[in-house]
Amino acid sequence: MQDFSSYRRVVVKVGTSTLTHATGHLDLRRIETLVRVLADFRNQGREVVLVSSGAVSAGIARLGVDHRPRSTEEKQALAAVGQSQLMKLYERLFSDYGYCVGQILLTRDVMDSPTRRKHAEQTFETLLSLGCIPIVNENDSVSSEGINFGGNDTLSAYVAMVCHADLLVNLSDVDGLYDRDPRRDASARLIPQVDRVTDDLLAIAGGAGTERGTGGMATKLEAARMVTEAGISMIIANGADPLILYNITDERKFGTFFSAQPAH
Ligand code: GLU
Repeated sequence: MQDFSSYRRVVVKVGTSTLTHATGHLDLRRIETLVRVLADFRNQGREVVLVSSGAVSAGIARLGVDHRPRSTEEKQALAAVGQSQLMKLYERLFSDYGYCVGQILLTRDVMDSPTRRKHAEQTFETLLSLGCIPIVNENDSVSSEGINFGGNDTLSAYVAMVCHADLLVNLSDVDGLYDRDPRRDASARLIPQVDRVTDDLLAIAGGAGTERGTGGMATKLEAARMVTEAGISMIIANGADPLILYNITDERKFGTFFSAQPAH
């Protein structure tokens, strides 16, 4: 494994199940801890990009809706409300540590269009050069099934590539990649390092996500395959306590590390 000090530009993706309580309301303790650690990473001289889910869930909680969205229109509207909730909180918390945030909402077609992708790349670069912390989500209010990223695991892989990141950290409600499904098999063992994401490995990853988020292990592994082939390392760790990010910098146990593939 590489020495973490060589990772200057880091993308951290945090899922809905980590950012919200079972009630759907934002988990303020976790979010505050996350922001403090990311601000501290900036203090260490690293560049940080946050890919945050939680917009739909925060919208449901803000409006007091008692169900998950039943239609595309409802989901889009809830995301519009929740996204502003999220940004209001991030703006306030990061500015407490002297950092400025910038919101970037992406849609799949931006990635598919070379011109628009280039513009996104330049915006990230400029925000980072200004010392800002870009906060990214899918633009759920104008995106829908079939033309979307299919969840923020995939979005975060694109973001890592567009930003030319050194490392992508996926903070989720799982400890990492196991050799068997740990929810079904108590003898499942965590795999600390993966040198190459193969088809065999993809086959052992179950598909199901959590109730409030959308990502399962399969989408995380697909994301790992994409970024490692693009020369970016990735980590899957449990975001229940965002202080786990320090385990990475301090080279203590954290989850599963996926090595970047050497350029050919
Ligand atoms: N973009 C969605 C949101 O912010 C989350 C997608 C996902 O959980 O992967 O609510």
